[in-house]
Amino acid sequence: MADNVEKVVIIGSGPAGWTAAIYAARANMHPLVYQGALTPENQDSGTLPLGQLNLTTEVENFPTWPHADSDAYKLFSKTSLSPEFYAEIAHFYEGKTALKGKRSALGPEQMQWIRQQAVNFGTRVVTDDIIDVDFTRHPFTLTPSQGGTVRTLTVIISTGARANYLGLPSEQLYKGRGVSACAVCEGAFPRFRNKPLIVIGGGDSAVEEATYLTKFASKVYMVHRRDQLRASKIMQQRAFSNAKIDMKWNRGLLEVLGNDTEGVTGARIKSTVDDKTEELPVSGVFLAIGHTPNTAFLKGKLALEPNGYIKWTHPQRTYTSVEGVFAAGDVADAYYKQAVTAAGTGCMAALDAERWLAEKGLE
Ligand code: NAP
Repeated sequence: MADNVEKVVIIGSGPAGWTAAIYAARANMHPLVYQGALTPENQDSGTLPLGQLNLTTEVENFPTWPHADSDAYKLFSKTSLSPEFYAEIAHFYEGKTALKGKRSALGPEQMQWIRQQAVNFGTRVVTDDIIDVDFTRHPFTLTPSQGGTVRTLTVIISTGARANYLGLPSEQLYKGRGVSACAVCEGAFPRFRNKPLIVIGGGDSAVEEATYLTKFASKVYMVHRRDQLRASKIMQQRAFSNAKIDMKWNRGLLEVLGNDTEGVTGARIKSTVDDKTEELPVSGVFLAIGHTPNTAFLKGKLALEPNGYIKWTHPQRTYTSVEGVFAAGDVADAYYKQAVTAAGTGCMAALDAERWLAEKGLE
């Protein structure tokens, strides 16, 4: 095979992508990871490099990381990360924002560690998006947003999913001025301090966001369309025992209220069981209503499920409808959607790609 053809290109850089890279690198496949571009559009849609875990706080359910002192995490990051990667999370350890006391590892810490692990074994990383693919001929051709093309024998797609919005015009109008789908990214902004806020949704993310926001807000309304949370029992307990969280059952968001100078000043919510509406004076509206897979660039190129997720075509395998193209993580998983399952399927995709190359005599 010609020198300019890659053995495996991994698109996406969450737990699935980096785990695939670790396995592929250790199998001498010299993986090339397109980790995503640093653009305002990706910032806006929550698709920057390092995936959704990079947008979260403490991760209590990823095996190997029990609570430890913040200083221990600092020492670990300082001694395991390259200076460049350490710099991206130095604010957790240094200066006014330094964390203190016992805690779980943070999502952004874990993402730096896992990327470093992949790089240590020789993974090459490009900070760009793949915007088009040609799977009709082999080797496959991928088109990065900055131009040129990349040819590759196998592809692992691990582009994850992004947070949903309701699609209200007022929501769009106040995005970035009080409307957000990422409490961790924006919750500490001065505009939210000591003010009431709303979180929409009833899943684990909604509880996590609401709990996080109680650090800054005077009060957090959780507005949920049913009278029961979808969140796991432990997270439900956390919400119900937090005095700052006020449950608004059987309600939905009708309109975000605000003005040009202040941004969000309130929200009109509506009952889901009768016609009653009410206005809540809040300075922020946080959406936590599920996710959409990042598969727009794959439409018509390989089989997708009706809800847009990539179709896994073989039981217990990461095969897709195109031979030599594999999918891992949330982009193909509308069911489990956990960091650890994403990492697991990343491992599977690398092994599947390695074995597929061997079967075809292409290794
Ligand atoms: P999710 O579990 O799908 O929950 C989405 C929530 O939004 C549901 O309560 C849903 O209501 C509501 N919703 C959806 N569409 C809506 C709409 N159009 N209007 C109003 N409400 C709407 O999503 P998630 O909370 O982001 O969690 C995703 C996955 O990540 C889950 O598997 C979760 O366990 C995992 N996760 C785990 C943790 C943790 O363990 N610490 C933290 C975050 C996420 P209904 O309930 O009525 O459907």
